[in-house]
Amino acid sequence: MAEEVDVAEALHTGSCLCGGVTIAAKGAATWVAHCHCRSCRRATGGPFATFAGFERDKVMISGEAYRQHASSPGVKRGFCKKCGASISYESSKWPAEIHILVGVMDAPQDFIPQAHVCTKSKLAWLHLEDGLPTFEEFPSSNQQREEA
Ligand SMILES: [Zn+2]
Ligand SMILES: [Zn+2]
Repeated sequence: MAEEVDVAEALHTGSCLCGGVTIAAKGAATWVAHCHCRSCRRATGGPFATFAGFERDKVMISGEAYRQHASSPGVKRGFCKKCGASISYESSKWPAEIHILVGVMDAPQDFIPQAHVCTKSKLAWLHLEDGLPTFEEFPSSNQQREEA
């Protein structure tokens, strides 16, 4: 019997480095972007962080090692307390969403970035030549700006 793949219901899975925390996201990501803000840099240890946005109620994060850290007012960053992997980002600004770091997903290549955000804080030695739109802040803020 042929199985039909329903894109809207496709299941994306992932896990932290030690496997103690698992992620299951149903359906397509609503967006994918690189964030260059300082908080993402410190939280992940990388020069920028790449997130996929999902509807909150379509994502299940399991495992006793899952913890959340309130990194700034209204913001919760999820991580594994055993291996230290950064996993998620939730903000009271977008209560219906959860942002998952694509590096913890089993098929990160499936999440194709569409933009760079918070490029005001981008490291000068990082040269963006992928042609994607850049936003100095978060595009949802009032200071929305797209570089020409
Ligand atoms: Zn872990
Ligand atoms: Zn950020």
